[in-house]
Amino acid sequence: MSERALRGTRLGATSYENDAGIDFAPRQDIEYVCPNEHRFIMPFSVEADVPPTWECKVCGAVALLVDGAPPEEKAGKPARTHWDMLLERRSVADLEEVLAERLAVLRDGGIAGADIVRPAPARTIAGRAKKSAAAAKASAVKAPAGKPKNTAGRSAARKTAARADS
Ligand SMILES: [Zn+2]
Repeated sequence: MSERALRGTRLGATSYENDAGIDFAPRQDIEYVCPNEHRFIMPFSVEADVPPTWECKVCGAVALLVDGAPPEEKAGKPARTHWDMLLERRSVADLEEVLAERLAVLRDGGIAGADIVRPAPARTIAGRAKKSAAAAKASAVKAPAGKPKNTAGRSAARKTAARADS
């Protein structure tokens, strides 16, 4: 937009500051390429530690540095299995006890077993309450508001179209 153009404004965080007279910190352009051959360049400060991977701007895949060593495999957490989770709630001794109870019920010819509902150990209940509180907190964080719609531009276009019709 020309510097002399009359610019309208609206409520919001639009900044008309431009880059004139600003010395940028020295930068370097780093090229990444994703598995689907999308290439893109990211500017980084020369002082920055350049990350070995970047999310592809086109497809979202993990793009790798073009001329860099492949990233080291991270020793990620091993996946938690159902068995691991069970062991977090009950010890093997507990489980043996539960199994013996259930077997006894089975052998007596019943499996309804509403009478032998066992409460989980107290610490587990406390842990679960903590977890659900954290989950509630996380879901309470609002998603960023979307871009306000540029209704001004659209209505101007409509007016122009109306004028063309008459
Ligand atoms: Zn891609």
